[in-house]
Amino acid sequence: MKQNIIKQDRRKFIKYTTLGALVATAGVGVVVSPKIIKAEDRLRPPGAVEEKKFLSLCIKCGQCLQVCPYHSIFLVDISHGHGVGTPYIDANIRGCWACKAVPCVLACPSGALDHHTEKATDINMGIAVLERKKDCLAVKREPVPAGYDKKMKNFLKNTNNVTKIELEALAKFEGYEGKPCTLCADMCPMPNPISCIEVKETESGIIRPVIYDQCTGCGVCQEVCPTDEPSIVIKPRLEYKDVYSS
Ligand code: SF4
Ligand code: SF4
Ligand code: SF4
Repeated sequence: MKQNIIKQDRRKFIKYTTLGALVATAGVGVVVSPKIIKAEDRLRPPGAVEEKKFLSLCIKCGQCLQVCPYHSIFLVDISHGHGVGTPYIDANIRGCWACKAVPCVLACPSGALDHHTEKATDINMGIAVLERKKDCLAVKREPVPAGYDKKMKNFLKNTNNVTKIELEALAKFEGYEGKPCTLCADMCPMPNPISCIEVKETESGIIRPVIYDQCTGCGVCQEVCPTDEPSIVIKPRLEYKDVYSS
């Protein structure tokens, strides 16, 4: 099902690129209902400006998608509601692997992705939350199951032009079967992951991922979490203080 979505998104890329160019050429304004935006819970690529502004600035050119070496960016399909043709990240499929120079932002010609986002630590997409604590393998003290890597392998199998760094990420992801689960923390792609997330025993004696304030909401922890539905998820556009500060 997810792979079909990937394929559909890619097939429609050309179509929406053309649509975006037409809209830009015609100078057609984008009118967006605030109600629709409020209902929106989409993870946008790094540097995305505030949602309403993003929808008015993005010309649906797909440049960000084209340069992403991890194939993390998809375009909104007609079946996914408003903002058709705009880029988003589905962290259940593929998070943003936080490239050093953030090429998606550099490629954006419209300002929809803010060029002040110059490096991985500037990425500010959302914040990770242990949403399904009772399912988390660390909390349950259960080992990483066999086949935990199937989703990433299938993703790459169905992806054209798999890059060297995608294969390196896969190699780092391998070898966890039967081990205590620390995948969300170990795969965190930030330059200093320990300032973003750590799987540790808390004061109450529970082993669990703990999120810190340098988490950028890149979504890799959600992508790699091996539970049926990811135990850890990203809350788009929220910051650490929104969720964790008392
Ligand atoms: S920072 Fe890199 S991995 Fe993340 S969306 Fe941009 S190009 Fe893709
Ligand atoms: S904790 Fe998760 S969302 Fe936050 S930076 Fe690390 S991998 Fe990304
Ligand atoms: S990846 Fe993290 S959140 Fe998911 S099961 Fe493992 S420890 Fe829990």
